[in-house]
Formats: sequence, structure tokens, C-alpha cells
Amino acid sequence: MNILVLNSGSSSIKYKLIDMRDERLLAEGLVERIGEATGTITHRRYGRAGAPEKIRRDAAIDDHTTGMEMAVALLTAEDTGVVATQADIAAIGHRVVHGGELFHASTRIDERVMANIEACIPLAPLHNPGGLAGIRTAIKLFPQTAQVAVFDTAYHQSIPPHAYQYALPYALYEALGIRRYGFHGTSHRYVAGEAARLLDKPLAQTNLISLHLGNGASITAIANGRSVDTSMGMTPLAGVIMGTRSGDIDPAIVEYIAVQQGMPLSDVMRLLTKESGLKGICGRNDLRDIHQDAAAGDDRARLALEMLIYRYKHYVGAYLAVLGEVDAIIFTAGIGENDPVVRHGVCQGLDKLGIVIDPRRNTDWQGRAAAISVPESPIKVLVIPTNEELEIARQTAAVIGS
Ligand code: ADP
Repeated sequence: MNILVLNSGSSSIKYKLIDMRDERLLAEGLVERIGEATGTITHRRYGRAGAPEKIRRDAAIDDHTTGMEMAVALLTAEDTGVVATQADIAAIGHRVVHGGELFHASTRIDERVMANIEACIPLAPLHNPGGLAGIRTAIKLFPQTAQVAVFDTAYHQSIPPHAYQYALPYALYEALGIRRYGFHGTSHRYVAGEAARLLDKPLAQTNLISLHLGNGASITAIANGRSVDTSMGMTPLAGVIMGTRSGDIDPAIVEYIAVQQGMPLSDVMRLLTKESGLKGICGRNDLRDIHQDAAAGDDRARLALEMLIYRYKHYVGAYLAVLGEVDAIIFTAGIGENDPVVRHGVCQGLDKLGIVIDPRRNTDWQGRAAAISVPESPIKVLVIPTNEELEIARQTAAVIGS
């Protein structure tokens, strides 16, 4: 059974076609700059062995429909394709960023589901419209195929009220839905499942702290396989320091900047989202550059690195207390998978709390899910490559199978 996974943005569509018999990636691609004078589609076809064949086309891509038609043509053509006809695609799984409180699980898409995704647009004005455009287009092009929505927020719907409520007038929660929702749920759920497998323990009996550390980053406390708290909030601006996002700050700073700098609120929000985080501290948002600068003696780069590690560690400590008992902490995503310095920094000094990293395993880690703690460490430290598309495909298969 082949499942097509779609991640549609306002001007892009990412796709992956996965054969669920062995969870093998058959083809993937990216349609970019939809609606601009020239767009691009990059398509990769994977064989059983060797490097994938790569095809790139430049053309005006007026809208999502045109973009998706081009992708479908590449997936089904003799010279570039991996399936003979559209009918060889059993179902389509769509990534949707925000499901608010309306979606606790992945769900088969119908008119009511689409209306509810639309109702969540005020909570994610930059993300949900793209997702919805992708869904509408896919239904148009694949009217006979099952379509499933998989939400970034759904995994966190198990967080209890004392952890998701903000201490604001309760009426604001009731009227506007102001609360913690959390994001990266698909990734946290995926690595939690892989961790349970690695620990050889049922997920429903496993407590984890999952660190999804990419350009955007969030840390989640997982009790018995379910999310019970997460660092992001109503929006992805909250929590740890990120590439260009501030993470948690004193909310009074917003007014102070606006008044002192004579800045409109929208500019302050832009500053917190695009000009802060690592970039705000040292001018760079990619950790690879920051390591280089720090090694060359740049004090701000060093400070940014220390701040980043400190804030990650802060959440690990908080969630150790929230969970009481933890089987493993998981590092994943761009930074989590690739940066041994950060992993070491986060774990350093936590021996007495049960986290004992093995420095050699940490630096030798090579791309496959594995422990980097010493064998006798009471809490295991795992590095697990995330795979959000595979998780979306698994969820889609589960929904259509049920
Ligand atoms: P996102 O999906 O949020 O855009 P990723 O999970 O792809 O982000 O992570 C991207 C980030 O990962 C980069 O900004 C960079 O800071 C970090 N990163 C990627 N490769 C490395 C590496 N080899 N060493 C350190 N950091 C890395």
C-alpha cells in the first residue's frame, strides 16, 4: 500500500510517497515558489540501491493545483515515476499545523473537518491556509482517494489543564482559546515510539523527555507514552531559545520595547520572531556557523551557545520533576541529531539525577537510533533521527485501516 504525504505551505508543497509494506521511501519532491514568475519542482526517485535520480524543472506554477498536477505527473510518468497510475496511491496524509482543541487525533477529511481546520486559522494564520489549500487541491485531483489530516498539535491534547492554562482571566480562554497547544507533535510522537522500541518497553509504560531541537525547537514531557507538557505555547514562539525566535521572555518586555523604541506592536512581534534567538545574540542562527565563530574567539557566539544549552537544560530539569521517573531523554532534529557539543552540554552535571552520557558514544553517533549514555545510566540518553513524514504515513494507514 502506497501513501502520499503532503506538507503544503502558502507557496510550497513537499511530498513523499512511501510504500507501507516496508516503509520504504519511493519518491519525494518539493514544489517551490508557487504564484511567483518562476517556480521550481525538485523530484527524487529512489531505487532499491544507489543514489536517487534527481529531476529539476523550472516553470511558472500559478497555484497549488498546477503544482500538485506537476508532482503527480512526475510520480506516474514512465521515466521519472514510481507508480503506474494515481490509483496506485491508496491514501493521502496531510500535515496540518493547528488543530486547536477540535482535533485530538488524526482524522479522515470530510467537509466538516475542513470547516474545523478553517476555524483554527486565527490560531495559525501563517500555516493553516496553506495546509487547507493543499487538502482542497488533493481532493480535486484525487476525488476517489481517502484523505487524512495529521495535526502538529494533536499529540499535545493530552496535556492536563493545570499545565496548558495560562494564568490570565479565564474568560480569555473561553472566548479566544488562549492556552498552550504545543507543536512538533508528529515528531515527538514518532521518536517516542522509536524510543520505546529501542528500550524494548511498551510505549504506554514509558516516560520520556523528547528534545526536538531544530531551527524551531520544543521539548516535551511524555508520561506513559502521552504528552503531559511541552515548551511551546499558544504559538511556536514560546519555550527554548531558537534560531531566530526568542522563546520564553518576560511579557512586559513587549510594551517596554514598543514604548522606548516607538515601535508598532507588529514590528515588536517581528523582532521576537525573526531577529531574536541565536541570531539576536550573535548575528547567526545556524549552529554550525556559531561553533565556527566561537572557535575563532567570538564571545557573543560563545554566549549564544551557553544560553542555548542552559535553556534546554532548564526544561530537562523541569520535566524530570514533572515526570518523577524517566526512562530516557531523546535528542532529535537538526541540532539534536548533529551536535554532540550541545548534547554533552545539556547532560553535563546531571549524573546525580541519573543521566550519564558516554562522551565517546556521543561523538561517534552515526545516524541510526541509538543510546549515547553509559550502559548503567539509570536514564538512557538516546539520539533518534526524526521522520515526520513516515509518522504521518503511519497515522494515515491507521486511520484508513480503522
Ligand atoms: P527546521 O526543520 O526547524 O528548519 P532542522 O531540524 O532541519 O530545522 O534543523 C536545522 C538546524 O540544525 C540548523 O539551523 C542548524 O542550527 C542545525 N544543524 C544542522 N546540521 C548541524 C550540524 N552538523 N551541527 C550542528 N548543528 C546543525
